[in-house]
Amino acid sequence: MFSFQDYAAPATVEEALALLDKSRKNRILGGTAWLRMSNLKLHTGIDLKNLGLNSIYEQDGALQIGACCTLRQAETDPLLCGYCGGLVADGIFNIVGVQFRAVAQVGASVFARYGFSDLLPSLLACGASVRLAKAGMMPLEDFLNRPFFRDILLEILLPAQNGIGRSACLRNSAGDFALLNGAVYLDHADCRIAVGARPQCAALARNAGEFVLQNRGSLPVDVLAERAVLLASEELKFGSNMRGSEDYRREMCNVLMRRMLRPLLGKEEGH
Ligand SMILES: Cc1cc2nc3c(=O)[nH]c(=O)nc-3n(C[C@H](O)[C@H](O)[C@H](O)COP(=O)(O)OP(=O)(O)OC[C@H]3O[C@@H](n4cnc5c(N)ncnc54)[C@H](O)[C@@H]3O)c2cc1C
Repeated sequence: MFSFQDYAAPATVEEALALLDKSRKNRILGGTAWLRMSNLKLHTGIDLKNLGLNSIYEQDGALQIGACCTLRQAETDPLLCGYCGGLVADGIFNIVGVQFRAVAQVGASVFARYGFSDLLPSLLACGASVRLAKAGMMPLEDFLNRPFFRDILLEILLPAQNGIGRSACLRNSAGDFALLNGAVYLDHADCRIAVGARPQCAALARNAGEFVLQNRGSLPVDVLAERAVLLASEELKFGSNMRGSEDYRREMCNVLMRRMLRPLLGKEEGH
């Protein structure tokens, strides 16, 4: 179990940053579900609870999710449930159990960039950005591509969208980490496909998305999915770990892609 000698709940972002920068042994505390799995001996645990980062609200059609919102809050929030057909909220449902999701926080889940994250594919697919205390605003994709740096994640911003999306995951058993997960966002002008737990962190398969956009309606969904997987396999890396081999993941990506694309494109085929 991790431990810390001192606890602080700063009243401003500046104070929180100053504390974080004071020592490498000072850490931001999210819901501490992950931290509790470690034996870290920390100096100061920095609680962000006084910074007003625990709500989800709409501004000009865009949604803002405070970093301290719990996964459960995000999963059940009416605005998020309605956003892109529930794309973001649905991606959270498979994470452990309700009690766990009532503790773990969205900001920690994004900032930590876990390869297995079930949240990152949906956020990438809908074009999310992040707001950090030091580095400011940046697209989530840029954040994920940066080497790790110390900062505080304040908010996740979801752009106004009028399309729909779908997420899916494959697990060896419920409650385990995903062996593959993904999300698709689709509207008339855009198709964004993200695949995660490869086991590397979620990334966009741009060529696959472009292919689906260009060929929707002219190819059967299963053929679209099969070709999209081929393109995704060329542009994304797959690997092996205890949950599945590289080959198995490539094979399973086909299943994942069909599960995401069928409900989105099925109607266009008259199914
Ligand atoms: C047993 C177990 C199973 C899990 N299974 C899944 C799963 O199947 N799918 C999935 O997607 N996730 C899974 N997770 C991860 C989980 O969803 C959370 O992402 C994780 O617990 C981190 O959230 P937390 O609030 O507990 O963070 P904490 O443990 O409090 O923090 C984690 C790290 O993030 C840092 N941090 C926290 N908040 C911020 C912030 N605002 N800015 C900057 N840094 C910050 C902390 O300093 C720490 O280094 C699992 C976690 C556990 C422990």
